[in-house]
Amino acid sequence: MTVVFTLRTSSVGQTRSLAVALAPVLRDGDLVLLTGDLGAGKTAFVQGLGRGLLVADRITSPTFTIMQHYEGRLPVHHVDAYRLDSPDEVFELALPEVLDEGGVMIVEWGERVRGGVDREYLELAFTFGDDDDEREIEVQLVGRTWVERNPTIRTVLSPWTREG
Ligand code: ADP
Ligand code: MG
Repeated sequence: MTVVFTLRTSSVGQTRSLAVALAPVLRDGDLVLLTGDLGAGKTAFVQGLGRGLLVADRITSPTFTIMQHYEGRLPVHHVDAYRLDSPDEVFELALPEVLDEGGVMIVEWGERVRGGVDREYLELAFTFGDDDDEREIEVQLVGRTWVERNPTIRTVLSPWTREG
């Protein structure tokens, strides 16, 4: 059960705003996977999500920390899987167990954990647009818990829905 649609932003501020708008839809136990090359806007999105989830700290991407935890409306577990090379390393992080304790998990380079976490997820795939500040974001809602939220998600994200 999967729903796919595409968004477009034309500034980093829009990408952050889009994430702020999405934040109220998130629930305990949610997994959000972000894919896209370096500089595509994954961390910018996480920063917006943090703001929308009322995280007081500024979310950053420290070079050698794979997982960081923040307190907001819900606990936020921010994972940057860039340095994970093998399925063993993913397994050792015990991501499902962390998520079972509560909160939402947002994973940059999400394709590296997708196969190791048996759970429904929301995926956003960031790609570069024609202009420097333009990004296309393909959204995939995978599984019942996400598809049932499709109408709400489409409504909150409608300002950035790609036309044509
Ligand atoms: P990633 O985490 O995917 O490597 P970052 O969020 O760290 O990417 O960086 C994205 C960079 O691209 C930032 O310098 C940001 O200012 C810039 N940028 C320009 N336009 C956009 C946009 N529409 N959405 C997100 N970031 C953008
Ligand atoms: Mg990043």
